[in-house]
Amino acid sequence: MEEWREHHKNFIRLMALMIVVLLLGGMVIPAFLTAKDAQEVQAASVQEAPADEGTQDGDEDWQEAEIPVEETLEIKERCDHVIVLDPGHGGDDDGSVSGEVAEKDVNLAVTLAVRDKLEELGYTVLLTRAESDTSEEETRSVVDRVRFAEEKNADLYISIHQEFAEQAEESGIEVTYNVYKTADGSKRLAQLMQKELQLYTETEPRALVADDSLYVIRQTTMPSCLIETGYLSNAEECALLQTPEYQAELAEGIARGVDLFFYPKTMYLTFDDGPSAENTVAVLDILQAHDIKATFFVIGENVEKHPEVARRIVEDGHTIGIHCYDHTYKKLYQSVDSYVEDFEKAWQIVYDTTGVEAKLFRFPGGSVNAYNKKVYKDIIAEMTARGYTYYDWNASLEDASKRNQPERLIRNAKESTLGRKRVVMLAHDVIYNTTQCLDELIEMFPEYEMLPLTEDVEPIQF
Ligand SMILES: [Zn+2]
Repeated sequence: MEEWREHHKNFIRLMALMIVVLLLGGMVIPAFLTAKDAQEVQAASVQEAPADEGTQDGDEDWQEAEIPVEETLEIKERCDHVIVLDPGHGGDDDGSVSGEVAEKDVNLAVTLAVRDKLEELGYTVLLTRAESDTSEEETRSVVDRVRFAEEKNADLYISIHQEFAEQAEESGIEVTYNVYKTADGSKRLAQLMQKELQLYTETEPRALVADDSLYVIRQTTMPSCLIETGYLSNAEECALLQTPEYQAELAEGIARGVDLFFYPKTMYLTFDDGPSAENTVAVLDILQAHDIKATFFVIGENVEKHPEVARRIVEDGHTIGIHCYDHTYKKLYQSVDSYVEDFEKAWQIVYDTTGVEAKLFRFPGGSVNAYNKKVYKDIIAEMTARGYTYYDWNASLEDASKRNQPERLIRNAKESTLGRKRVVMLAHDVIYNTTQCLDELIEMFPEYEMLPLTEDVEPIQF
């Protein structure tokens, strides 16, 4: 009897302890959420709030965010990629000449710095001409250079040159790709080079050049580009190009570009609130032109209005997920039952229209928002028990605010990605301004591979 009583006491103590832990946990978790994701949750309410309840999002609160870059590049343990670097000109061919400085020498110096950096990362690097100026290889023709890269089965071909202009003030880095060689990744390679070089040298941005005349980048069958790393006609830049410090910056930028070409980060483009007749179709056309698959979290009411657009989303290979049936926050988040009832209605319409048994969903306003504080935990528990997975986001165009113009949406997207390795980008395919900037947005992120969400993708949740 005594033993039982002791046992009983211990049990009560244990229960009391568990209750305290649970209570504390209940207090700690929302506090943690508020601190960590305050910005995102706030973004959620800004994003998704109906027009009459929208929070202020004026330009005055916008601040330029620092875009962090990874401190060091990862050294590959096994890396089978072969990079052919081509220092332009050589031997009898000086290239451009500025006083005492011959282009061929600057090209070689920069190329050697790039080679060292790439080898450090584990890449196999081959040069189209030797280091010494007396070798016969120095006079290798462009035909021989291309043949060399083909024979070596190179994965990339990068030609390094310097520019020369009549106007002495011209400066900066110019990257050229072949206009008919975009499908093999040459354009993306050029975009990466331009972006990473500008980041590391802090030079003024110059536009990418699409060309069809440069032999080495036209005739090579692997992705290729030609980089003019500076202007020899600009006295200041000419001097800078010959310093090991600047050559190291150029090498860092090019090596990072190469590394991101083979090992991109991941971005999941997600579009909420559709489908709509014109805007969703415009979004689908742009995605198709870029051969990108994305994710659409649809509203049941809109699927009923535009069933053919919903079917095209699926036929084009995108992921379709559930947003809601009726995007009215107060009604939706009244209780667990009201949420589930609305969800099931939307799910059934998506199934009847497209044949897709949706497994992924996104909460209107995000999983934690100003309208669902009392019920969100219970809703999440219920939806998880039913086998559904929700996806919040960690970057946003903030395109639900009517005042935001396309340029602003681009800036928001850029500022909110923060160089993350995995980005779930929130956008709305019902917004006209989003269709106006989507093409530029995709071009702006060559370091990301854009993929659709699937059940296998670890969710981003607030
Ligand atoms: Zn929404």
